[in-house]
Amino acid sequence: MRLQANALIDNTLQLTARAAYLAKITHASELPRLCRHYASLPAPPLVLGSGSNVVFCHDYPGLVLQFTSQKIRLLCSDTEYVTVRVGAGLNWHALVRWCLSMGYHGLENLALIPGKVGAAPIQNIGAYGVELATFVVAVGVFDTQQQSYTALPAKACNFGYRDSRFKAEPGRWLITHVDLQLRRHAQPEISYPALRNCLATDHPQPKQIFDSVVKLRRRRLPDPRLIPNVGSFFKNPVTSQEFAEDLRRELPDLSSFPMANGQCKLAAAQLIEECGLRGYSEGRVMVSNQHALVITATNGANGSEVVALARTIRERVFRRWRVRLDPEPRLIGADWSEIW
Ligand code: NAP
Repeated sequence: MRLQANALIDNTLQLTARAAYLAKITHASELPRLCRHYASLPAPPLVLGSGSNVVFCHDYPGLVLQFTSQKIRLLCSDTEYVTVRVGAGLNWHALVRWCLSMGYHGLENLALIPGKVGAAPIQNIGAYGVELATFVVAVGVFDTQQQSYTALPAKACNFGYRDSRFKAEPGRWLITHVDLQLRRHAQPEISYPALRNCLATDHPQPKQIFDSVVKLRRRRLPDPRLIPNVGSFFKNPVTSQEFAEDLRRELPDLSSFPMANGQCKLAAAQLIEECGLRGYSEGRVMVSNQHALVITATNGANGSEVVALARTIRERVFRRWRVRLDPEPRLIGADWSEIW
């Protein structure tokens, strides 16, 4: 383990923020002692992956943990499936590439999602009609309440649309590894029109899907290494069918997608764009010209400026469409419920 006091925290918005303590953890067994030792700090331990889904509005007065394990272990295998255990510190896209090279299928649509494996279950990452929950067998965690390790089976993770138990109980669970069951025989998911249109065939190989998703994402989204951002800033709102029908009277080409629970998902980017906010800027922060769901920052911007712009977007969308937007990244030092 490596421990540093008053350490700068990496984050893809490139906001300047420091942690009271930053610990890089090699073995999960180091956690109980560490959590006990720093229990009196004014904030609970915070796990950080690559900082691609977090906005720091101030320094973090507690212990920030980063898991370094990038191990992949084969747990079991038969003619249909393989189950692998993946360390929380592995880069998500590296895992997708490794699975592709091994002939383990299912994750292709999730290529190029930024972040580490340990962060993936928190928001149940999803893209192009595929979500992580489909593949999760269990999530290995350290429970800071019980001070013990456990493996939560997928059912106990309460996965929902970009949602999970880990989001609902912030600070309680420190994710150490994820067990995934992958297919030996590919089942291509190409229902999203953008993806289908990008493919030259109706029966693509996993590699073709992977390549198309990478191409689409590179075209659609600003690269955080060049333009600081945290990807989608807002979740797509979920409303009743009746509400969506009402809205369609005002916005005839409204994109809405029925969900399994009878509700309806709207495209947040469209609602923002229709308010004329694509490319809108406030000082050093801006709604990306490439994708209206992305907020970008220029060097020197701070987290409060990012949240202030998010607030403007939320107010404009609510005033225009009566739809409430909620942020996808974690906001450290800003309470979204207070903002309402
Ligand atoms: P898009 O094709 O412009 O569509 C806009 C939204 O409509 C998407 O967010 C998607 O919801 C929804 N959608 C489109 N076709 C759908 C279908 N056939 N069934 C159900 N829902 C549908 O989307 P985009 O912005 O270019 O993004 C493409 C994919 O990449 C999406 O899945 C999106 O979630 C993902 N993405 C993720 C991030 C991130 O940072 N996490 C950033 C950008 C894009 P869903 O989002 O529920 O799929």
